[in-house]
Amino acid sequence: MILIVGGAGYIGSHINQMLMRKGYQTVAFDNLVYGHREAVGKGILEEGDLADIRRLDEIFRKYKIEAVFHFAAYAYVGESVENPGKYYHNNVANTLHLLDAMVRHGVKDIVFSSTCATYGAPDVVPITEEMAQRPINPYGASKLMVERILSDYHKAYGLNYCCLRYFNAAGADPGGEIGESHDPETHLIPLILAAASGRREKIGVFGTDYPTRDGSCIRDYIHVTDLANAHIRAMKYLEGGGESICLNLGNEVGTSVLEVIEAAKEVTGRNISVELCRKRPGDPPVLVGSAEKAKEILGWNPQYGDIRTILRHAWAWECNRRY
Ligand code: UDP
Repeated sequence: MILIVGGAGYIGSHINQMLMRKGYQTVAFDNLVYGHREAVGKGILEEGDLADIRRLDEIFRKYKIEAVFHFAAYAYVGESVENPGKYYHNNVANTLHLLDAMVRHGVKDIVFSSTCATYGAPDVVPITEEMAQRPINPYGASKLMVERILSDYHKAYGLNYCCLRYFNAAGADPGGEIGESHDPETHLIPLILAAASGRREKIGVFGTDYPTRDGSCIRDYIHVTDLANAHIRAMKYLEGGGESICLNLGNEVGTSVLEVIEAAKEVTGRNISVELCRKRPGDPPVLVGSAEKAKEILGWNPQYGDIRTILRHAWAWECNRRY
């Protein structure tokens, strides 16, 4: 049995779906604060919170857990600056409850959802795993702390981990069953598509004088299905005795905010009203990852790297949302 903590959330639900399709038995554990029951489909969902140690023990006793995927975390950068306590309690302290439960119950392998936000505002791109990690907000810091804790738990208790540092997760299940649904939504692509569908009036472009080719921020968008594929490979890698490791997951291609909007106009065939706005505090100008290490070690290769493909799948979801 594979335990997917945060399995009703955006990324966790796509990994859960792929595992189930491949014939794995899974159990999603989620407090449904941001997750959606519908995102688990016909899979097993156990409601619960990582703050509840007894509930965790119950889960580890009830199922024979072989490996853990951990996605449960708060992920609003701005909120993390306003209310860091919320982030450190949930993302760090509650993760300790999960890791301690794994140690108590003899479960060895964990794939952890980390982020490029652990690098902060890097001086050079593409970002490699060896570059300094200097997060510029509590969200990134909370994820980096867990990476450090995992390394210490590995040495002390023999826990094996794979930390996957995602760049900008985007897109949706090509089959259209599940997709991205945040409340509040702050991410660029779903907001652009909501403006295209008429659910929102317009899209604001946060910053037009960055030192980039068109003045808007550049990001590395990676399809959620490609992420799911990498996670399953990471689990198999650990199962096969692979060394504990941290890997970037990105497309190695930078796309600017204005370029994403232009591509979205093409894909949707709709006009999208754009408002040029001030910078959002804490946004680094350019984040593009090197995924060479993940390619080499996991034998992974993104299949849906083209921004138009990502937008097409996200648009299909926007037009036919189930939750
Ligand atoms: N962005 C924007 N308008 C929005 C939301 C985001 O211009 O309404 C920009 C944001 O400044 C960043 C990029 O789009 O440069 C991606 O932002 P998102 O919140 O999707 O992901 P992040 O890079 O913050 O993880």
